[in-house]
Amino acid sequence: MKNDLALIGLGVMGSNLALNIADHGYKIAVYNYTQDLVDKFKNENSHPNAEPFYDLDKMMASLKAPRIIIIMVTAGKAVDSVIEALKPYLAQGDIVLDLGNSNFNDTNRRFRELQNLGVVFSGVGVSGGSEGARHGPAIMVGGTKEAYDKFGTILEDISAHAYDGKPCCAFMGNGAAGHYVKMVHNGIEYADMQLIAESYLVLKTLGGFSNEELAQIFESYAKGPLESYLIKITAKVLKEKDPKGQGNLIDYIVDKAGQKGTGKWTCQAGFEVGVDLSMIDAACNARFISGSLKERTLRSKECKAQSVESLSSKEALIKKVENYLYVGKIAAYAQGFDLYAKASKLYDFDLNLGKIAEIFRAGCIIQAKFLNDITKAYERNPTLSNLIDDPFFKEKLELCLDDAREISILAMKNALPTPVMYEALAYIDGMRCSCVGANLIQGLRDYFGAHTFERIDEEGFRHHNWSN
Ligand code: NDP
Repeated sequence: MKNDLALIGLGVMGSNLALNIADHGYKIAVYNYTQDLVDKFKNENSHPNAEPFYDLDKMMASLKAPRIIIIMVTAGKAVDSVIEALKPYLAQGDIVLDLGNSNFNDTNRRFRELQNLGVVFSGVGVSGGSEGARHGPAIMVGGTKEAYDKFGTILEDISAHAYDGKPCCAFMGNGAAGHYVKMVHNGIEYADMQLIAESYLVLKTLGGFSNEELAQIFESYAKGPLESYLIKITAKVLKEKDPKGQGNLIDYIVDKAGQKGTGKWTCQAGFEVGVDLSMIDAACNARFISGSLKERTLRSKECKAQSVESLSSKEALIKKVENYLYVGKIAAYAQGFDLYAKASKLYDFDLNLGKIAEIFRAGCIIQAKFLNDITKAYERNPTLSNLIDDPFFKEKLELCLDDAREISILAMKNALPTPVMYEALAYIDGMRCSCVGANLIQGLRDYFGAHTFERIDEEGFRHHNWSN
């Protein structure tokens, strides 16, 4: 009996996805270009529906037509090299799916290249880490809707399902839309995590809470409007005991955070399209700053933070930080979804923003209760210009903004770095302010470079002969 599909790349994500697909009753051929990972899969992951191959030739011959081949390898050159290796075997109508974190520009190039050979190609974003891959990730598919209809059911079957039973997998839009949606998802994840880290810093430093108390606070947040995977695992990470028996593990983790590049790509995409992603930019910068741990530590000894009174009541601090986080979350998603809206027009992706929020509801790292409210906002108004204009989020901002400002001022006075939250407030204020000082910028540009400006009372651009 022939295999239904194949998967190339038996690393962490590839093996887990292959097992997930096999569990759903599909017969899957698996292959890796180095023998070691095929051996490992055979030894550790034997499954009646998964057939390992050491030879690409034999793997391809084992497939039903049209052949569906999933590539799950390191993004970049590895994907091109797998596609090159596949080309001699590919026939008209075969389907190649790249499920790694490929850059969307590469996906566009590969889409065109394979389309010229009559091969269907789709860039697919997958979120949820290794656990998600094994038991149900969120899946964002690009390419064409016509092609999606040929393989979409498999991906829907293996995806996470939200509480209403809907699969967290959908056709996102044309061309590289799947990888674009995944890239911005990761950018939002950067902002989301940095906001959590900033709240942790505020609660720990200004509230003086112990790790156990902090874990309880995040557990309580996870029962309210902030309910999300990241808030839940924050509580778990905070209460984890050090395996060496010296208190909590969190206190032994070096204060340096790395990044693999999707945050940077999102920031670049924001500049390309002309959308303010200041919170994602700040989250990337915060990770850069975290890298200079030695210098930071030296300076911290010379520079004493100004000590100000914290809030008199610990309960008030906990509540205000919850509202502070909520404001940050609204702003982060407002920025990310603004990029989706503008990129969709620029690149003809034809994205459905409500649908994006819907498939983020389970399986992925940023899954949150809050996403239901985003879906509802776009259902109420599919052409919503920004999330902060939706009546629900408008009301929430009114309720929570004062607390967010109070906590930010407190952090600033205590020299606690909370850059993403400052950017959130600057974004919300900027987006709700009729004068942001750009009139003076235009005056200066015209003064030194005759760049012209528009008047409020006349049409058209003009240069002024400045009198001094
Ligand atoms: P791993 O490093 O575990 O696996 C990488 C895979 O790529 C291995 O099978 C490796 O084979 C293969 N590979 C590397 N170079 C080549 C090459 N030149 N030709 C052919 N195959 C090659 O990575 P992950 O499984 O974690 O990630 C795979 C993809 O999934 C990446 O794009 C990643 O960004 C994305 N992703 C990862 C997530 C995660 O949480 N880990 C979440 C969502 C997406 P070998 O080891 O034999 O070299």
